[in-house]
Amino acid sequence: MAPTFTHEFKNQSYTGKTSFGTGVYIDGQFRDGSNGTTIDVVNPTNGSLITKIAEATAADVNTAVKAAQKALDTTWGLNTSGAERGELIGKLARLMERDQDELSAIEALDNGKTFGWAKGVDIAFSIQTIKYFAGWADKITGQTIETDEKKLVYTRHEPLGVVGQIIPWNFPLLMFAWKIAPALATGNAIVIKPSEFTPLTALRMCSLIEEAGFPPGVVNVLVGYGQTVGQAISEHMDIQKVAFTGSTLVGRKVMAAAASSNLKNVTLELGGKSPNIIFDDADLEQAVNWAAHGIFWNHGQACCAGSRIFVQEGIYDKFLAEFTKKTASINVGDPFAPGVDQGPQVSQLQYDRIMGYIESGKSEGATVHLGGERHGTEGYFIKPTIFTDTTPEMKIVKEEIFGPVGVVIKFKDEADVIRQANDTMYGLAAAVFTQNLNRAIETAHKLQAGTAWVNCVNQLHANVPFGGFKQSGIGRELGEYALHNYTNVKAVHINLGHKM
Ligand code: NAD
Repeated sequence: MAPTFTHEFKNQSYTGKTSFGTGVYIDGQFRDGSNGTTIDVVNPTNGSLITKIAEATAADVNTAVKAAQKALDTTWGLNTSGAERGELIGKLARLMERDQDELSAIEALDNGKTFGWAKGVDIAFSIQTIKYFAGWADKITGQTIETDEKKLVYTRHEPLGVVGQIIPWNFPLLMFAWKIAPALATGNAIVIKPSEFTPLTALRMCSLIEEAGFPPGVVNVLVGYGQTVGQAISEHMDIQKVAFTGSTLVGRKVMAAAASSNLKNVTLELGGKSPNIIFDDADLEQAVNWAAHGIFWNHGQACCAGSRIFVQEGIYDKFLAEFTKKTASINVGDPFAPGVDQGPQVSQLQYDRIMGYIESGKSEGATVHLGGERHGTEGYFIKPTIFTDTTPEMKIVKEEIFGPVGVVIKFKDEADVIRQANDTMYGLAAAVFTQNLNRAIETAHKLQAGTAWVNCVNQLHANVPFGGFKQSGIGRELGEYALHNYTNVKAVHINLGHKM
């Protein structure tokens, strides 16, 4: 039996205790990984060890797939009604509501995001997502289709079977919820790999999944490394689908592994370099507030971060002055201290990556208008950073930094900004600020992105599909669209008297 992690939270935001298993969760039980090795979980505010958790392996993936298949054959999938599944998923949402403060505290500790944002966004949106898909579970229907023969033809939307899911560290519980909810509603059994950097809320969820009453084997949670567990999921012959959220680089590997194994179905939610366009006629104060939220929310660790801020020349100086003030007022510090807006980046690796981008911006000739350096003396804190005087070839303009670093770019007119905004391999999200309705809609339609926001940014909802154009992904999560990722369509033809 793998050990339990117990932690007392005693801070201004939350006082309480948490305790949960740290093993590989297979068939309803925590166990040691097959190698007996562990992964260090590190506190990003100071680099100290929070706990060690069991490291899953490729062999554990095999065991989990067998457990998932057993559940499908006996207690889950076609052995359940949608209403039964909806009941369990709804119960899970209620248990998460009960424990929302504890879940928020675990997320803040593990990831470094503030307790307030964890509770108000990550946990609240996770609950919303799980409730939303609970409602879909008994509404998965096919069609009856007329043909020119004497036949009754109808379609059934059947579960795919065992599905693999691989998620990143920036919204650990939220990505877990986005993945498991539609898969469970449609009757699939799951082998999910949380990020090795932020595994704690997923492990805490295992006991809630059990308490909700899901049969063992329906959800298996394996924390391990990408090259081992992620790769094993992607190339497993008995996994029918892999749903991946993470970088475009790794998304490519997942798709290659799927293609070279059993041609499993693949959905990818990948990176972005989202444009945020501010026209001369925008409400300046609102544009400034939203633009700051767009790039600095979640410490810039958002796939849809508005990292390229295009400002029309007539408003550029005023915008930059106000945006600088707003950015300078962002309070960086302890994620559990009230009034803090930004905690540390998630890991030493990400800290080094972001600082590398900041150095490249400097050496390629951009101006550090604000920030551009570490905050404090320990942990992985970076000051909110604004670059100006960039050119389109610079790495900080082209590549996803995934940190609190925005570039502000001047543009002339609509044609100029649409060309620049679309000049990227990514196509996840985009925003436009203007008070002219026609211009807003025309621009939104011309931007190559899966989501276009008008006079706002980073707005997502469980009911609304989310996903990328171009190299930002394949498929859509959330909304009714997400259900299509998890069902096989079977056409049944019934002969009503057609003779051979
Ligand atoms: P990452 O690609 O490094 O890792 C994502 C997950 O893949 C992790 O669980 C990791 O262990 C695993 N992995 C690594 N190598 C693997 C391999 N060879 N095979 C299978 N799995 C492997 O990304 P990250 O650093 O965890 O997250 C940041 C990235 O995620 C950013 O690019 C961000 O834009 C993207 N993201 C996208 C969305 C979206 O909805 N589009 C949401 C959140 C994050």
